[in-house]
Amino acid sequence: MQILRQGVESESDVFLLRQRGREIAAAVGFDTQDQVRVATALSEVGREVLAAGGGWASMQVEHEVVRPELAVELVAAGTLAFPDRSSFTGLSAAQRLMDGFEYDGRSRVLLRKRLPGYGTASAPSLTRLRERIAAIAPVSPLDELRAQNANLATALEQVQRKQEELLQLNEELQDTNRGVMAMYAQLSEELDETNRGVVALYAELDEKGVALQHANEAKTRFLANVSHELRTPVNSVLGLAGLLRSDSDALTDEQRRQVAYIEASARDLLRLVNELLDLAKAESGRLEPTVAPIDLARLLADLHGTLRPLATNADVALVIEEPPAVEGFASDPELLVHVLRNLVTNGLKFTERGEVRLTTEVDRNVGCVHLAVRDTGIGIPVEEQEKVFEEFYQVASPLQTRMRGTGLGLPFARRLVELLGGQLRLQSTPGVGSVFTVSLPLRPVPPPHPTKPHEPGDVSPRGIVARQVLVVDDDEAYRHVLSTMLQGIAGHVLEARNGAEALDILARNVPNLVLLDLRMPGIDGAQVLARIAEEPAWRDLPVVVTTSARLDSTVLERTALACAVVPKASLTPHTLRELVAAHAGSTP
Ligand code: ADP
Repeated sequence: MQILRQGVESESDVFLLRQRGREIAAAVGFDTQDQVRVATALSEVGREVLAAGGGWASMQVEHEVVRPELAVELVAAGTLAFPDRSSFTGLSAAQRLMDGFEYDGRSRVLLRKRLPGYGTASAPSLTRLRERIAAIAPVSPLDELRAQNANLATALEQVQRKQEELLQLNEELQDTNRGVMAMYAQLSEELDETNRGVVALYAELDEKGVALQHANEAKTRFLANVSHELRTPVNSVLGLAGLLRSDSDALTDEQRRQVAYIEASARDLLRLVNELLDLAKAESGRLEPTVAPIDLARLLADLHGTLRPLATNADVALVIEEPPAVEGFASDPELLVHVLRNLVTNGLKFTERGEVRLTTEVDRNVGCVHLAVRDTGIGIPVEEQEKVFEEFYQVASPLQTRMRGTGLGLPFARRLVELLGGQLRLQSTPGVGSVFTVSLPLRPVPPPHPTKPHEPGDVSPRGIVARQVLVVDDDEAYRHVLSTMLQGIAGHVLEARNGAEALDILARNVPNLVLLDLRMPGIDGAQVLARIAEEPAWRDLPVVVTTSARLDSTVLERTALACAVVPKASLTPHTLRELVAAHAGSTP
């Protein structure tokens, strides 16, 4: 709709155009700044029209479109001048101030500015506006200047406010930046400190780990050495008690009973010492399994036989179920029996009513045998179920106080099972019972180890079977035990306290047999053996090694030159007679 059409023929027409332009801009909703923009653009082009010989201006509002706009057309009689685009006067200024600018290159210019908001200009309001604009009387140049000044002052104020706002914003931004930087610095300092702490902690942990390792090695060494030192005198006590018992005619009943107690206590002590030594060995990695094919049905039947005497409580049944057929199962039978015996014995000890049952399951998919010892006994509280695998740990209970035990059985059993490449697990409910499960691979990881056939000969004749026997042992008590046992077996017994003395005696007098201890200070048993093998005069001399050590591969290696190796604890007058007869009997 057209709002205005006026001629531009004089200076005052230009002022009027400017004044009306501002009024219209205000009426259609432009803010103060845009009002000034529209007014200034009209007055700049109006002046150019006047300079080009005068003309006319027409202003309209396109209100029936999506985006309504104010459009002003200015036409001059002559050609309009267009200064260069950087100028702030004339057509160039109008082009900068308006949203749309069209110039036909001669006398016509079209200016456009989009109305703020939608639908502010309705037809009736525009009609009223047209009437109001037509009624505006021309103002004097002075009034127009004043109006311009007022506009300028308002604009300046607005700019000033904006600038202040900007400054304040900037300050706030700087404050925030400073805060962020301070926080960042503090965080990175804390991070640095934490890092330093973590590094120090790791260093300390490493140190502690090394110290622990040393302590553990020292404990293992202590157990191994002390146990070994203890075993020697205990073996002597056992041997002496055995001698006393065999001479039973010379003893009163009371003395016989006392000797039986001595023997029983010595056996208990020896068992404890052996357990300690075994544990130390398993821990230090010196215990080597000797793997062989296992007939599980037979092994369990034998185990049942040896355990039956322990099941003395009529309220507790010992059941060893026949295993399913297990083909190709190989492990160390001695170690496996040791573990199972320990678990069944514990079951019997801690069950007052019900049963102790050993069952076998084979899992062919994973290649595993599970041997479970299940009892209906007192059970073990959850918080102690891992602790019972620690050395010397025993669960406090009234039943415990009545039982004998060391707290070494389970830790040793677990180590043995691990040594065989398996696992020992426990499930237990107090008051209901416990299940200990040994899971072993059908084929163990460690390679089979050849055993050394050192068996004493068959049944020997009665009476003297060797003319002369040399006993070499640094333990005086055990030398005495052997010498006494040899009475009636050997015609004459020579004794040497160590390797050097033994070699000395051999140089003067070659006996029919040597009973040789392995661990001795100075020249030890293995060295004596080597010297005997080197010397042509002694080469055929039979040597039987008597030792407290477990007969593992190291011992067997060190005694390869001996004709037999026997554990001291297994020696009785009867077994000794068989031994001497087997090896020295042919050379009296
Ligand atoms: P020991 O039997 O010589 O004390 P172990 O290492 O074999 O040593 O067992 C440690 C402890 O674990 C036992 O003293 C006992 O408190 C507990 N324990 C072991 N087996 C059972 C079981 N079947 N039922 C209840 N408690 C058990």
